[in-house]
Amino acid sequence: MLIKAAARLGLLPPYLFAELDRVKREVQQTGVDVISLGIGDPDLPTPGFIVEALKRAADDTANHRYPDYQGLDRFRAAATGWYRRRFGVSLDPAREACALIGSKEGIANFATAVVDPGDIVLIPDPGYPVYYSGCVFSGGEAYFMPLRAENGFLPDFGAIPGEVARRAKLMWLNYPNNPTAATVEPEFLRQAVEFCLRNNIILAFDIAYSEIAFDGYRAPSVLQIEGARECAIEFHSLSKTYSMTGWRVGFALGNAALIAALGAVKTNVDSGVFQAVQEAAIAALDADDRTVREYCSIYQQRRDLMVGALREIGLECAPPRATFYLWAKVPQGYSSTSLTEQVLRRAGVVITPGSGFGKCGEGYVRFSLTVASDRLQAAVERLRALRL
Ligand SMILES: *Cc1c(COP(=O)(O)O)cnc(C)c1O
Repeated sequence: MLIKAAARLGLLPPYLFAELDRVKREVQQTGVDVISLGIGDPDLPTPGFIVEALKRAADDTANHRYPDYQGLDRFRAAATGWYRRRFGVSLDPAREACALIGSKEGIANFATAVVDPGDIVLIPDPGYPVYYSGCVFSGGEAYFMPLRAENGFLPDFGAIPGEVARRAKLMWLNYPNNPTAATVEPEFLRQAVEFCLRNNIILAFDIAYSEIAFDGYRAPSVLQIEGARECAIEFHSLSKTYSMTGWRVGFALGNAALIAALGAVKTNVDSGVFQAVQEAAIAALDADDRTVREYCSIYQQRRDLMVGALREIGLECAPPRATFYLWAKVPQGYSSTSLTEQVLRRAGVVITPGSGFGKCGEGYVRFSLTVASDRLQAAVERLRALRL
């Protein structure tokens, strides 16, 4: 029998990274010690007190059963409590919060919850690929909002045609941003809320990097903006803040009807977050921010090391105020993929082509600061020797 996958899988973009993976294996086979600055996955370990909380909770047989779909009451209270201390806004843990099996899960399922076939979804370009997958899986039509350097990598709401705005059901925004590392001030979020309320658009804000910030920058939340609770939902993750990418835990906060719609999808496709993981997440959210600050200062040192080195070798890159990424312009004569391939073949360093995040990412590459400084230093030396 000939197996034919669903047509929707054909709507996903070709996997740009497959070719890079092939070249990476080829380079490794020649004996090169490849340094990967490709993936955004923290090398720093999950803080010990969180691991200990998991160990204790894993021994409790009450945690071996199916968890609550929306998350333990105590988990949701810990999430809204953390949110109130951090952002100064009180939310109802019972109606305005929902546990997620990592925020990627929530982001993908949210499209199923609110997008009907033919609806337009406004998606930043470049952007995290899951916004687009969720859109096409639910039959939506993507409209890409270009993020350009001259606008500080913010979308220009005024450039969205009236007809598109009228048909749009959902808008995705993500700040601090992956992959551009751009940040926003509350005024931009105010404009976003105003645009969405005026056009009846649901605003989904991905805030996975809110705590990875430097130089005193404090990332704003969209739910701090007046009127946002009428139209907005926000996706938080423990993955980057506490180096917990493998644990799969995050949470959504915001408009109660949007939380309920997302919960209705989740009730039908998953059975919640392992309760022992929720207990560990509660320990993380209830703790002071000492380890978070310590980790940020490590990322900041790496950032300064790398930005300086990249500039010396002709890769223009502004030091970001948040995230553990550097978004660098490729030098004259290269494209995103040709530079990426050169750097991999000739220096044994993996970086990510900006074009992998969308058309407007062309002309840029992303460096992830998720390797120890000595490896980063080694990568810098190899890049220097390249004489691009
Ligand atoms: C890492 C990341 C996420 C999701 O992380 P989870 O591990 O699924 O919580 C979401 N959005 C962006 C932009 C990310 O970079």
